[in-house]
Amino acid sequence: MSPRDTPDPNVSHVSDTALWVAAYRAMESRRDDALFRDPYAERLAGPRGAAIAQSQEQGASGAWSVITRTAVLDEMILRAIGDGADTVLNLAAGLDTRPYRLPLPHTLRWIEVDFPDMLAYKTDKLADAQPRCALERVPLDLTRRDERRSLFDRIDRESGAVLVITEGLLVYLSQDEASALTEDVSAPLRFRWWIADVLTPELLDWLRRTAFKSFASGEVQMRFAPAGGAAFFERYGWRAGTVRRVSVESRRLGREMPNAEAFRLLAAAGSEGREPYARFDACFLGLERA
Ligand code: SAM
Repeated sequence: MSPRDTPDPNVSHVSDTALWVAAYRAMESRRDDALFRDPYAERLAGPRGAAIAQSQEQGASGAWSVITRTAVLDEMILRAIGDGADTVLNLAAGLDTRPYRLPLPHTLRWIEVDFPDMLAYKTDKLADAQPRCALERVPLDLTRRDERRSLFDRIDRESGAVLVITEGLLVYLSQDEASALTEDVSAPLRFRWWIADVLTPELLDWLRRTAFKSFASGEVQMRFAPAGGAAFFERYGWRAGTVRRVSVESRRLGREMPNAEAFRLLAAAGSEGREPYARFDACFLGLERA
């Protein structure tokens, strides 16, 4: 039995966060009015994912933001494919099951990259499932720069137009690691779109001090939140075609955080209140080549 099949709530390696977010997708999928249905999320999250999610509930729930992120990225990904992406490169794919559950053209090529043991666990759990497009898995520690560059080069040569996704990855990198990854994602000319999620520095700081202090005490920390949001990526030749704020999207989708109404009242209370609260947010960026 893999350690992932035990109800240990500890987040001792960054790949454990994939179990955690899968548990929230399982939770959403059980609702009658689910925004998406991920039929594999429950088995992928397993008892470990459920235990991690349960332990986080004692701080502040992350469910609403992960569920909002999944639903909004579903829309953004389908749009990029409609605009002509023939290849999706999902960096840090974790236990995402979009190749199985989204209405994708069967000619689409979808490449998932994550740590070798994470992808082995996923392949085992999904052995009986059928993807809707051509799916490949590339086991790789993405901080290994030479290997990542040669992977990107190969995909660039083999593709017409690539959509890159880094859902839930950048926040776990250091500033240097995030800058280097951004440089490498920006180099291949056929990497035309990039969907990334980023927190504001204020939200990151608050999360580290409150909700995720159990992470901060161990190996796994949330670390990267670029000041200026999209401006960070613009320096590498991207422009933000779409910027969608989690606070706005979660309201649109009916999945707001607990106490959202109180936060809104504080934000509306006047010029003193508005700025600080508006800065505690996260964005989903639809980046395009400038
Ligand atoms: N994108 C998936 C999703 O949204 O469900 C997973 C997100 S999970 C919060 C973070 C993922 O990043 C994990 O699957 C973890 O293994 C992966 N990850 C973090 N650092 C990595 C690295 N250096 N190389 C490969 N994968 C990495």
